[in-house]
Amino acid sequence: MTFPRKISVVTASEISSEQKERIEKLFSSKHKGETVEFEYSIDKQIIGGLLVIDGDEFYDGTLRSQIEKINPNYLVTEEFAQAALTAKGRKRKSVKRRSGKSGLETADATAADIKAHVDSELLGAVNEYKKSFDVRHAGSIVFCGDGVIKANGLSDAEYGEMLRVENGAQAIALSLEEDCVGAIVLDDDDKVTAHMTVKSTGMIVSVPVGKKLLGRVVNPLGKPIDGLGDFRADKYRPIEAPAPAIKDRDKVNTPLETGIIALDSMIPIGKGQRELIIGDRQTGKTSVAVDAIINQRGKNVVCVYVAIGQKSSTVASVVQTLTQHGAMPYTVVVSATASSSAPLQYIAPYAGCAIAEEFMYSGKDVLIVYDDLSKHAVAYRAMSLLLKRPPGREAYPGDIFYLHSRLLERAAKLSKEKGGGSMTALPIVETLAGDISAYIPTNIISITDGQIFLDTALFNSGMRPAVNVGLSVSRVGSSAQSPAMKSVSGRLRLDLSQARELAVFAQFGADLDESTMRALERGKRTNEVLRQDVHAPMSTAHQVVLLYIATKDLLGAIPLNRIDEFKEQFIRYFDVHHADIVKRIASGELTIDMGITIEDAVNEFSVYFLGKDNA
Ligand code: ATP
Ligand code: MG
Repeated sequence: MTFPRKISVVTASEISSEQKERIEKLFSSKHKGETVEFEYSIDKQIIGGLLVIDGDEFYDGTLRSQIEKINPNYLVTEEFAQAALTAKGRKRKSVKRRSGKSGLETADATAADIKAHVDSELLGAVNEYKKSFDVRHAGSIVFCGDGVIKANGLSDAEYGEMLRVENGAQAIALSLEEDCVGAIVLDDDDKVTAHMTVKSTGMIVSVPVGKKLLGRVVNPLGKPIDGLGDFRADKYRPIEAPAPAIKDRDKVNTPLETGIIALDSMIPIGKGQRELIIGDRQTGKTSVAVDAIINQRGKNVVCVYVAIGQKSSTVASVVQTLTQHGAMPYTVVVSATASSSAPLQYIAPYAGCAIAEEFMYSGKDVLIVYDDLSKHAVAYRAMSLLLKRPPGREAYPGDIFYLHSRLLERAAKLSKEKGGGSMTALPIVETLAGDISAYIPTNIISITDGQIFLDTALFNSGMRPAVNVGLSVSRVGSSAQSPAMKSVSGRLRLDLSQARELAVFAQFGADLDESTMRALERGKRTNEVLRQDVHAPMSTAHQVVLLYIATKDLLGAIPLNRIDEFKEQFIRYFDVHHADIVKRIASGELTIDMGITIEDAVNEFSVYFLGKDNA
């Protein structure tokens, strides 16, 4: 006995028996010699047109999918469908349309109805809808759980393609197997059940991009989560995109000032560079990145902060800090907190990158922070294990390197022909017990152009930011440094490492000669100069002045515990009395004459500074 072939026909409203007859004739002729049973149902969610499900083939002539195709994130909600349908009711004039391929008539909501009631951006979608039926494959969910689905029948699905479940949820196909497709569900995964229909869309998940996102906190699908209301984006971008080609890139040659003296002097970052911030938990990683964002105020740099797998309270405090320092107007925060599903955490950095790309390709400089990629890797591992992919080292799947390389390669300095924009990426990675040779840290170190290593021991000893100069490096940034900064920072690294070596030696309590003592004292003072409070970025000119003083060893007379105070007061004094020099240093100049002026000013001010106490 053979079972009859079932064909379901879904429409938005009742169709006439004449129309049914035509559908039946068409599909019966496709399956000659088989018994075919037709099943009719009404689903207002499709808005208009019709859908014929024949085994795993999906003849999709619905208005809804056309709208989704033009603008995948235009949420075709129930209210939307209702608005469209009421519009139709009110007009009373039902316009019949012929759809190209199968010659079926669809007499539902029309272009004019939708246009009048919803939005002009849909017009394109509606126009497309007139043209043809989309034949796509559909399947049925055979397994679902933990944000992962397996579906059979999706024989045309591609890797990374967006799938749509019948309840409207988006999914991404990640594992293409012989008899089924494994995918991750991005939204409403708790409402997805077995046996639901899922169809391929031929598209990649997209997020809203553009200026409307500035100052907002959004989830990885671009939906606002800051309670400031919805926005209608002008444009969407796929979250996955190829990195700029070699010929479209330019050299990294302009500095991106972080405002942190230890970084701008010794580990300079250029626009378009990828610099890793790495360190144990609670060593000030986020603070360094947030300070870099705060320092971009008034510098015409757009910032994107992507929070992955962090506590909601941590994200809230970052947003609060950014707001307090006036950084939100030029910043977008993309957040997938620890309570978000693994798939959402997985797409978060790609979504943030797409948002940043839009600004970069329109010629702007962008700074993007991924906080942090170790949690991103963990989310990807969780998904991969649920998809039953073979685990490799530390149970990460085999493509874990590609996961981050394709993300970080999208950061670039574009050539003039491409608009000259740039995307500087600051990925963050958390280590365990300072082990930078673990799997994920080594991967990302090899992808990036250098790393800023934050040390727990330094942090606890009060040296903050706790930058370990020995293990930190910037492979391309020094060519982006201004001549003034270069001339004062040259000796700095050497001085510091020498002082550190001597400090170890001095621990043995041996008698030290005078020159060693001096070098030690000097190292201590240099360290004091490099110490900086959190969220207090310093301009490059001020940094150069302070570093000049430190490298010329002009702080010998100032007691160690008062250097902080001295720095602050001296900068204020220098600003007032030598504003012209500050201006010239800011433009990159540092001549011998200027150096002498600084020296004189320090000597003069030191007398005043120390004398103040004696009086
Ligand atoms: P986590 O591992 O939890 O993400 P983290 O490495 O990102 O931590 P932060 O949250 O940036 O570290 O900083 C930890 C603490 O150290 C914060 O309370 C912060 O205020 C403090 N801190 C960071 N940098 C400095 C600094 N330069 N001076 C003083 N305190 C600092
Ligand atoms: Mg952090």
